[in-house]
Amino acid sequence: MPLALAPSLSWLAPPLCWGCSGPARRAEPLCGHCRGSFQRLAAEPVSLSGVAVWAPVAYAGPARELVRALKFRGARGVADAMAAQIVANAPPDLLPRGALVPVPLHPRRLRSRGYNQAAEIAAAIARRTGLEVAVRLARSGSTATQVGRARAERRVGPAGAIEPVGRAPTRVVLVDDVVTTGATLAACRAALLGAGSAEVRAVVFARTLGR
Ligand SMILES: [Zn+2]
Repeated sequence: MPLALAPSLSWLAPPLCWGCSGPARRAEPLCGHCRGSFQRLAAEPVSLSGVAVWAPVAYAGPARELVRALKFRGARGVADAMAAQIVANAPPDLLPRGALVPVPLHPRRLRSRGYNQAAEIAAAIARRTGLEVAVRLARSGSTATQVGRARAERRVGPAGAIEPVGRAPTRVVLVDDVVTTGATLAACRAALLGAGSAEVRAVVFARTLGR
C-alpha cells in the first residue's frame, strides 16, 4: 500500500482498507470483501513447541496486512479488529481459562514502536470480554546480560531472555499477534511454569501455515 494512502494518515479522506486500499467503513480496518477472505483455521488448538495454541485465521492475505499495519505502521486501532476475530471464534473454554498475559517485546523495540502489539491485542480482548490482563513477562533489555548464563536459560537467543515478572497467575492465556514455530510462546510458558503457573495456553491472531 502506498504510504500516501495509509489509513492512519488519511483523516480527511474516506477510510481505506488495509488489505486492498479500497474504501472501508469508518472504524473498520478492512473492507467487507477482505474481511470475508480471511483463511479461517480449525476450531481446535494446535500444539506448537509443546504449547496449545489457537488462532482464528491463517497468516496470509488481509490478515498479514493487519499484522503489518499494527506492527510497522503505527495502526494501534487495528488490534481491536484482531481481538474481535479472536473473541468471536475462540473455543468457548479457552479465553475464560485464565489471565491474559501478553508476549513481551524487547525493550529496544518497545521504545522505537511506542507500544507492544501483543499488549494492544490483549487489552482489546479484555475490553470485549471483561477478562483480566496481567503483564507478567519481560524480555531482558540487553543480550549482554545473557553472557555466562546456562544455555538452557537463553530461551530466545538474541531477542533477549524471557523472564517472569511478579506473581505468576495459576492459569494463563498467552496473547500474541502471530505464531510460526511457537518457540517464543514455549519460552514464555517455561518462564511462567518456572514461576508457579499451573497451566499456560495461547491465543494469537494469525498462524503461519505450511512450515
Ligand atoms: Zn479490502
